[in-house]
Amino acid sequence: MENLATDILSKRFGIEKEIIEFVNDSEKLILDKKEEIGKIRQYNQYKVLSAMQEVRLTSTDFNWTTGYGYGDIGRDKVEEIYSLVFNTEDALVRPTIASGTHALALTLSGLLLPGDELIYITGSPYDTLQQVIGTKGRPEGTLIELGVKYSEVPLKDNKIDIEGVIRAIKPNTKMMAIQRSTGYSDRRALTIEEIEKAVTAIKKVNKDIIIMVDNCYGEFVDYREPTDVGVDIMAGSLIKNPGGGLALSGGYIVGKKELVERVANRSTAPGLGKDTGLTFGTTRTTLQGLFLAPHIVAEAVKGALLVAAVYKRLGFEIVPELDDKRSDIIQAVKLLNRERVYEFCKGIQEASAVDSQFTPEAWDMPGYEDKVIMAAGGFIEGSSIELSADGPMREPFFAYYQGGLTYDHCKLGVCKSLSNLYVKGLVQL
Ligand SMILES: *Cc1c(COP(=O)(O)O)cnc(C)c1O
Repeated sequence: MENLATDILSKRFGIEKEIIEFVNDSEKLILDKKEEIGKIRQYNQYKVLSAMQEVRLTSTDFNWTTGYGYGDIGRDKVEEIYSLVFNTEDALVRPTIASGTHALALTLSGLLLPGDELIYITGSPYDTLQQVIGTKGRPEGTLIELGVKYSEVPLKDNKIDIEGVIRAIKPNTKMMAIQRSTGYSDRRALTIEEIEKAVTAIKKVNKDIIIMVDNCYGEFVDYREPTDVGVDIMAGSLIKNPGGGLALSGGYIVGKKELVERVANRSTAPGLGKDTGLTFGTTRTTLQGLFLAPHIVAEAVKGALLVAAVYKRLGFEIVPELDDKRSDIIQAVKLLNRERVYEFCKGIQEASAVDSQFTPEAWDMPGYEDKVIMAAGGFIEGSSIELSADGPMREPFFAYYQGGLTYDHCKLGVCKSLSNLYVKGLVQL
């Protein structure tokens, strides 16, 4: 019998038969990975459910308050649930945190005082963070302008250079930051084991140094989170993994109580902290998204593996490798020229449920130094736990693929992008 899924891919979406066959064959390379992904998903699902039950989540918690936002029980329970899931003393989770960058900027500016040193121990951070710190972009309001000292310890063989980090500690070193995910770099995400090793070594030398992790794209990819292995504070975005595709906006910060309190004071005002601030009716979707997140992340990881398998077979360099332990949902493919990145992203856009009729263009996005092309036809704008791909327009022309709320959608995205590259003669099967 004719395979109806293949049929609709070719007839409705115009994918060439040979492309469908190539992608179907590539799926065989990832079959053996699915069992472990399923185990991680299951564990995280139960972790989230148990937190919801522990705080006795109830239907009236989805109501919200007005004005100052005093006594928003749902808001408080969201934060309790986050702190249980991430195994921390406290959490700040708000829809008014505009993005992951905002959550990280709040954390850094809440904890660092003039004269304190911040060291990024995973090399240069994600593009937008460089503008927060002040090593790129305009100087106004950056950490450096505020008198914070800054330095970086580059990775060594794509791992944290623990000896180098220990040597870099100065009397005024207040904080060290770790970026778990690939970001727009060419290295794989750091595993929880690698983070644990670094944290243990640093704490042995000086237990007072605050260790922060940028956990963007890392949530629920593994059994443990950085805060399970001694990290003091961690931040991320709700329109990535933990929002499960449903959170409308927002960011989270989880960690030690006294640290989260300081950050909360920065986010509202000293003295007000976590007690004020509205949720604007978002509590339900924030929590339903968190409930779905372990499952959605597993789908996205399977999608990333399919991209890896396809482009590996075509001879491209991929990060991470098929057999690398995954610690984020990103799959980077080194496409080596501008045209391929364009066609790749165009295909992802064409596969979207929303805005599939538009063509993405590289543009000067706020917070980024190079032009960036972003393909995203999400139900939530800019949500990159939904099927999306992007690439900064710079050598060596990586495309970064991420998200996909369902594996089948990921597969359509893979078929569409490969078809574009194939038709333009940019790849040979
Ligand atoms: C996405 C991301 C951020 C934050 O980006 P926003 O678009 O501001 O949410 C920070 N660090 C890394 C590694 C990221 O992937």
